[in-house]
Amino acid sequence: MTLPPSEDRAVAADAAEPEVSAVPASIPSALKAYAVLEEFENTGGIVYAKSAIEARRIGANEYADGDFSAVSCKRAPWADRYIGKGLPIHIMVENGWHFDCQGCGRRIDSDYLWETDRQPEDIVGHQHSACYCDAVCEARETLDRAERKRLENRWLRRFAKIVKRRFPDAAPTHRHAYCERDANGRLRIGQVSVEFDFPGRQYSLAQLRWDRDSSWKADSRKPSWSCSSGDREAFEAYAAQGIEARQGGDGEAGSVHESPVPNGDAPND
Ligand SMILES: [Zn+2]
Repeated sequence: MTLPPSEDRAVAADAAEPEVSAVPASIPSALKAYAVLEEFENTGGIVYAKSAIEARRIGANEYADGDFSAVSCKRAPWADRYIGKGLPIHIMVENGWHFDCQGCGRRIDSDYLWETDRQPEDIVGHQHSACYCDAVCEARETLDRAERKRLENRWLRRFAKIVKRRFPDAAPTHRHAYCERDANGRLRIGQVSVEFDFPGRQYSLAQLRWDRDSSWKADSRKPSWSCSSGDREAFEAYAAQGIEARQGGDGEAGSVHESPVPNGDAPND
């Protein structure tokens, strides 16, 4: 996400900007770079266009829901040479823009670079990509994402197994899972759901789901089965059908309650 230049720098940058009427010969394009800002939030980016009017229209669509009057548009000749190449974040920072690091969340601007003894070239990313303080911050974020994915997949597989144990002929698919960090920074599962079809279904797929934050439930530690209310009869008949043959069945018609509890912060399997 692109954030605006800070006010003082914006003024300085504006003052330093010459009115360039011709594109330098090195640019194989009629396009020129314009800084377009949504004036209320003061967010925006560099837009490449044939004219200021066109840049403003593109920027208005991108940053102001199409409200032409809500954006300002100025030439940004320093960005001309990056047409079609991806404008590096560090070039934007050097020209007064600032960004939020998508790893640590810190605001990246020239002050931050100075305070942390970083060089502009350390910044990772270009205008339309993720942006990081440096390669280390990016690597930490990549590792965090991988760890979350691994834990989510473990729980999805575990829930699919529960479904198969209860309904051996079902074909559960992974629907959704997410992880969160507890107060100690330890990763734990926050929500898991798998879904599966059943005979006679007319509406949405049945689900086995668990939410850590379901405090309104009597026993939020147990995953719960659910189906559309219009399919309740069909689902309960499915649950009752051949129940003795299924592992884990309690023989009670219509009973689809399960007891596996996703306790602990990480599965052991
Ligand atoms: Zn960072």
